[in-house]
Amino acid sequence: MKYQVDSKGFYGDFGGAYIPEMLYSNIDNLQNNYLEITALPSFRAEFDQLLRDYVGRPSPLYLAPRLSKQYGAKIYLKREDLNHTGSHKINNTIGQILLAKHIGKTRIIAETGAGQHGVATATVCALMGIECVVYMGAVDIQRQAPNVARMKMLGAKVVPAMSGSKTLKDATNEAIRDWINNPEDTHYIIGSVVGPHPYPDMVARFQSVISQEMKTQLREQTGNENPDYIIACVGGGSNAAGIMYHYLEEQSVKLVLVEAGGKGVDTGHSAATSVLGSMGIIHGSKTLLMQTDDGQIVEPYSLSAGLDYPGIGPLHAHLIKSGRAQVYHATDEQALNAARNLSRIEGIIPALETAHGLAALEQMTFSQDDVVAINLSGRGDKDLATYIEAFGEE
Ligand SMILES: *Cc1c(COP(=O)(O)O)cnc(C)c1O
Repeated sequence: MKYQVDSKGFYGDFGGAYIPEMLYSNIDNLQNNYLEITALPSFRAEFDQLLRDYVGRPSPLYLAPRLSKQYGAKIYLKREDLNHTGSHKINNTIGQILLAKHIGKTRIIAETGAGQHGVATATVCALMGIECVVYMGAVDIQRQAPNVARMKMLGAKVVPAMSGSKTLKDATNEAIRDWINNPEDTHYIIGSVVGPHPYPDMVARFQSVISQEMKTQLREQTGNENPDYIIACVGGGSNAAGIMYHYLEEQSVKLVLVEAGGKGVDTGHSAATSVLGSMGIIHGSKTLLMQTDDGQIVEPYSLSAGLDYPGIGPLHAHLIKSGRAQVYHATDEQALNAARNLSRIEGIIPALETAHGLAALEQMTFSQDDVVAINLSGRGDKDLATYIEAFGEE
């Protein structure tokens, strides 16, 4: 079984590039050149230098002692929360801004859910002196106010998406509309492993620095570069793709994806795409998505703005359908409890998205020697209002 993308942009049955004609030349240009450009020694040197000196990589791999004791395994946290801007999203935006510069683009657009990708994009645009427009659902603008303020402080224009559920999917629609209207000067920095080929593969490669570092760190700390389990939450799938990338062909490493169960997978209020979804086309890619019998997208729900998306990336659809990855679901409540637990026993306040991955620990069983690596994809500063509302003064 192959897990890497093929030359047409497919992972098994999933992927491809289903796009309007106005975007052909942009997508074609990316498809034909992304591998060559990103492999240039000058590109690699600048990418690596910025990841080190600007982002603060390598991110630590932390053996969490009290969490390990609680669940009876050796649990390691890959600390993407310590990156500049507070999540893994910056790895990809650094890569894409360098690519955009290389192909002569002078304006950047992006979509954002929780605002972490918007902040990471606004940050690299400020760094490079490039105009930045971020589309964000009106509902998400409300629930992620600190990140909206950060984007504005960084000089980006934040445009509310008013259609549909006014969340991530709708912001993505608006960004695509903008790109169709401005194909010449604009590059669209997609924030996850979704969208038309080559985005899923390109974003996965930029994020793969996570698993590349982890191999070295695990070898140093345990003597074996392979863990028994890797766990990551899934919105579109970029933090999962990043921490799993170099382990996809290592069958002894069990891959665990955790989706947002919302109020419960069967309640009609969730974002559990792998169980509720079927094959369809969303945002330029053939993948699993939540849709009605006649192909209308079903509005997803999660308390977490970064997981509130009705699809998953084509790589993940393939990993799940081929049986390579297992899927768990965490409800809003389970994620909130996992966030509080990590805060209280390790002194680390995780992002609400990340907390879904941590919540899967409750549903799994381990033996003492199991090495479990969890992608601590982001920090929880942006979610403090949500946490305080859930727990009050407890
Ligand atoms: C955006 C985000 C996610 C979800 O996106 P993926 O592409 O699935 O990684 C998860 N965690 C954090 C902290 C995020 O900001």
